[in-house]
Amino acid sequence: MDLDKLGIKASKKAECGVLLKECYAYAKKSYHPSTHNAALLVDKGKIILRGVNVLPPRVKRKKERFEGNNKHIYPNHAERDLVYKAARKGISTSGLTMVMPWLPCIPCANAIISSGIATLIVHKQMVERTREGWQEELRNAVKIMKEAGVKIIAYDGRVGAKAYMHHEVWDA
Ligand SMILES: [Zn+2]
Repeated sequence: MDLDKLGIKASKKAECGVLLKECYAYAKKSYHPSTHNAALLVDKGKIILRGVNVLPPRVKRKKERFEGNNKHIYPNHAERDLVYKAARKGISTSGLTMVMPWLPCIPCANAIISSGIATLIVHKQMVERTREGWQEELRNAVKIMKEAGVKIIAYDGRVGAKAYMHHEVWDA
C-alpha cells in the first residue's frame, strides 16, 4: 500500500522507531496463526498499556476458533484488546496516542475513533507488506479515521525487530 496515496505523512523520528520496536517485541505474546500484532497506548511519549491480538481473557484457546474465517472473528485485534484493557483498568484513552505497526481494520478504526485516540503511529514498511485482500478495507479505515480527525503518522525506517505477518517472518 502506498502511504502517499493514502495521504499519510512519513516520519523518521527515532522515538517512533523505539516505540514500534517495543510493539513488535510485545507482539510475540500473540498465538494467532497468521499475524502477530501488538498495540501500545502512549501518553506524552511514555507507554502506559499494551495490547495484542489474542482471545479475550478466560475464553478458551480452541483450535476451531482459529480456523478459516473464525480467526478473523474470535480473537480481538491488538487495537481492540488495548482499548478494552484500558476500559477494564479504568484508564482514559481520550487524547492519547496508539502505536501499532499495521493499519487498523474498520472495526478497530471505529474503536480508535470512539475511544478518543488522537494520534496513530504505524510502520511504513509493515503497511507496505499488506496483502491485496486487506487493502480496500484498510484504505476505508484510513478514510474514516481522517474524517474523525485522528492524526496518522507512518514511521519510515527499520526498527530492528522480527515481525510475523501473513504467515511470514520478516525483518522490521
Ligand atoms: Zn482490526
